[in-house]
Amino acid sequence: MRGTVLKIVQAGDPVLRQRARELTPEEVSSPEVKSLIELMRDTMRDTPGVGLAAPQVGVGLRLVVVEDRAAYQAALSAEELAAREREPVDFHVLINPRLVVEDPTLVEFHEGCLSVSGYAALVPRARGVRVEALDEKGAPVSISARGWYARILQHEVDHLDGALYVDRMETRSFSTAENHRRHQAGRTTAQLRVELGLPERSK
Ligand code: ZN
Repeated sequence: MRGTVLKIVQAGDPVLRQRARELTPEEVSSPEVKSLIELMRDTMRDTPGVGLAAPQVGVGLRLVVVEDRAAYQAALSAEELAAREREPVDFHVLINPRLVVEDPTLVEFHEGCLSVSGYAALVPRARGVRVEALDEKGAPVSISARGWYARILQHEVDHLDGALYVDRMETRSFSTAENHRRHQAGRTTAQLRVELGLPERSK
């Protein structure tokens, strides 16, 4: 049986532009937050998405769920997966996350957002990050992530600070998701930069 899913708020909703607040230790262990985590997990899987931050369901708390299933990666070739350094990530919860960049090398790929539904754009992200957070039981976790997982973590922690990928995107690359599939799928970022009239990025 499929669980209840929450409504995902869209760009323009004030909650997406506000800094979410930290959860107190009492809140972390509360039945309300346990229930919210389950609803966010089911909502992320229903959409489907690889990450969801509480502000995206209208809740201004520093809480994120992440899951990148192998099935979501089936549409990408082995080369595309390798270029993105994308590997499956098990479901997990991040409460009050703090993110530090470990490898500042900028890597650029198209990404989208469930709260900017139907669009995609090239977004530069740091290649490697570390996130310190609490899990759903309130236990401290430390995650070192590279590639696509690092991109997901940067995208989700941005949500907690009121930032959206459109704040960081190459504006000329902004595209509907449909046109991204039609015209840009299978191209390397270097090819896309040429086609979009963007200067070559110095490595
Ligand atoms: Zn998003």
